[in-house]
Amino acid sequence: MSDNTHIVRDATCTFCGCVCDDMHLTVDVAANKITKAENACVLGRAWFKEHGIENRPFALVAGREASTEEAIEEAAQILARARFPVIYGLSDTTCEAQRQAVAIADMIGGNLDTTTSVCHGPSGIAFQGVGESTATLGEIRNRADLLVFWGGNPAESHPRLFTRYAVTAKGMYVPNGRKDRFVALVDVRRTPSAAVADLFLQVKPQRDFEVLWALRALVKGRRVDPAIEKLTGVSLATLEDLAGRMKRCRYGVLFFGMGLTMTRGRHFNSGALLALATDLNEYTHFVAKPVRGHGNVTGADNVVSWQTGFPFGVNLSRGYPRFNPGEFTTADLLGRGEVDAALIVAADPGANFPQRAIDHLRSIPVIVLDPKPTHTSQHARVAITTATYGISVAGTVYRMDDVSVTLRTALPSPYPSDEEVLTRIKARVRELLGGNRLPAARAA
Ligand code: SF4
Repeated sequence: MSDNTHIVRDATCTFCGCVCDDMHLTVDVAANKITKAENACVLGRAWFKEHGIENRPFALVAGREASTEEAIEEAAQILARARFPVIYGLSDTTCEAQRQAVAIADMIGGNLDTTTSVCHGPSGIAFQGVGESTATLGEIRNRADLLVFWGGNPAESHPRLFTRYAVTAKGMYVPNGRKDRFVALVDVRRTPSAAVADLFLQVKPQRDFEVLWALRALVKGRRVDPAIEKLTGVSLATLEDLAGRMKRCRYGVLFFGMGLTMTRGRHFNSGALLALATDLNEYTHFVAKPVRGHGNVTGADNVVSWQTGFPFGVNLSRGYPRFNPGEFTTADLLGRGEVDAALIVAADPGANFPQRAIDHLRSIPVIVLDPKPTHTSQHARVAITTATYGISVAGTVYRMDDVSVTLRTALPSPYPSDEEVLTRIKARVRELLGGNRLPAARAA
């Protein structure tokens, strides 16, 4: 190691919901960048490589370079004037920043939503109706002898889920790792994840619900029509085999992804899977876990839930929280052209929302907080450069299994954190509202 480098041990990668906290980072002090990320997967290595400190404007206001102070003032003016503002994103920032965003939404009587509304929102709805038999990833690593991955491709989206927590990981009651586990993969196409599976079930598109309901029936000992194969693409014999294995295992896990939650059936699909886990607990121990994408999307669910009572799609216009996905979710609000200002924190709806929603986003004043330029920030009235969480910002994040992880920093950044910017916006909005909770235009 040269004089110009130092090692940050046990840092955390916040690229995906695995939130691996065993990174050993080599930092080139002179160049102010991370040159090596030991233990990181290919995605984690790219994350650390791409988030060095670069020379960017502190802020842009109407496309013109500005100071952070000027940008905060403009952002506060926009939010204080708005009649129906939306705050969206929040899945790639710390829980401390998320708290400030909730406080702003509450103060201005706005709409609060996270990227959960476009990924595992249906699971959030199903949890409320069906409940969740859950576990930590550590428990799964040490105990699970049967794993079912449904509607996801962790080999490419969450590479270390297989090696650190499940499949090949060795645990207390599965000392031989892969040899002690049976792995099934359910998907509409054969992905690279199928290579690790003992059993691959290729389901016809849009037929996950029917397969789940057939498994529920088989687990309960009911008769299932062999015509299920024509409907779903999976033979009755294969379903009987899987149902039998699930009942006989010592500790089973259903991991599920957006291939289940964002296809036909949505929250009915998630609900059916959660109900299957509940059914199986009559015979053995079974848990269900959504595989979460963004590094702190689980934190966003937790913070928004503990402050408003609901996980996403929360409207505070009446002075109390109302939850109604489809009405108060951001893509829907924008698509109907209802909101008149937007504060986007660490998300890029301009890149992945439906075109109608993007068109409306471009027609209203938008404030963006992000470490990098994005599709959304290109058209924003105010774009504020913030420091990257987990690399230059400490704080708290939640792993996909709701375990909180404390971040440590590796690179000093000249840019403020999301938390700092949001706290200052909140203070200025409060001043502009003159102590009123809602903008005067709406309070009148
Ligand atoms: S699995 Fe996810 S959190 Fe872990 S190193 Fe890879 S990208 Fe980072």
